[in-house]
Amino acid sequence: MTANEALLKALIEHAEKLEDLTQDEYETILVLLEAAHAEALGQISTLWREKDIGEIATRVNMTYSEVTNKIKAAMDKSLPRLADNEVTQIQAMLEEIIPGVAIKGAMVEWQKIAERPAAAGSTLAQLVDALGVNNMTDVVETTKRAIEQGKTLEALVLELRGRAVRRAKWVGGKYVAGKYTGGIMTVDTRQAEALARTAVMHVSNTARDIFWQANEDIIKGYMRVETLDERTCIECGLEDGRIYGVNEPKPFLPVHINCRAYYCPLFKSFRELGIDADELPETTRASMNGQVPKYTTWKDMLESASPKEQAEILGPTRAKLYQQGMPVESFVKDGKLLTLKELK
Ligand SMILES: [Zn+2]
Repeated sequence: MTANEALLKALIEHAEKLEDLTQDEYETILVLLEAAHAEALGQISTLWREKDIGEIATRVNMTYSEVTNKIKAAMDKSLPRLADNEVTQIQAMLEEIIPGVAIKGAMVEWQKIAERPAAAGSTLAQLVDALGVNNMTDVVETTKRAIEQGKTLEALVLELRGRAVRRAKWVGGKYVAGKYTGGIMTVDTRQAEALARTAVMHVSNTARDIFWQANEDIIKGYMRVETLDERTCIECGLEDGRIYGVNEPKPFLPVHINCRAYYCPLFKSFRELGIDADELPETTRASMNGQVPKYTTWKDMLESASPKEQAEILGPTRAKLYQQGMPVESFVKDGKLLTLKELK
């Protein structure tokens, strides 16, 4: 295996580990958010008799702005650690793949990561704020409508909370989140998962960017790598495997909320490094050929997928067009997915 192939393989495995961290981060946010939902429901129940939407809105607003701060505080604890771990692990990865080549460490300043837009032009703090505001607005608007329509409290709670599969409870002073189906709060809870994923991808990508930049003397370019499954979006799928020169401008990753893309650097060949061959261990010398690793891109995967899988990846209508010979590139214009109406 060449050094570039080994790095790509290691980074793909590493991306799976990041998925576990996403799950941890999500659970932390979930517990906080579910507690806020419970608190908001309590406030609505207490104030229900007066039907004073102004007072309800004030209390609910306070609850969700408090949880916003709690989520930020939790992230401020876990994410800087993630950034540091990322650099340590990637450094160890390189030392194993290309022994004998000098690797530089990198200082990761948390402030810089926090300030950089995480996705769609918003910083992590702004994404957390949006989550709080969305939840608050949904709860207040639904309550207001219920009052106007003369609904019962029970009907409102069902509309907000959905049906409990397992109720939330306190166990030994620790809040254990419940499980619900349906309900506006349940839908909002899903945003928390997107937030967790975006946070982990943003922090890991930015920390790595800083590390790669510190080591650009051994790097000749970058390949964009997408996490490949039926959830990969078409816009990103088409960018999978795209190669950028070191100084060529390339998009910050993640591109959007829930985006799971990252860059895999391409090492220079040992000759391009200008190192005296004798200085490098023979295995490193043999593996550093500077070539782009063999890689099955999203497009390759799509091509070899069954018609049913293609329908899962592209959606049924696009899959049909694709099977009739329409190139997948024509589904996207200027990085944006065309609607089915625009396609026709
Ligand atoms: Zn995408």
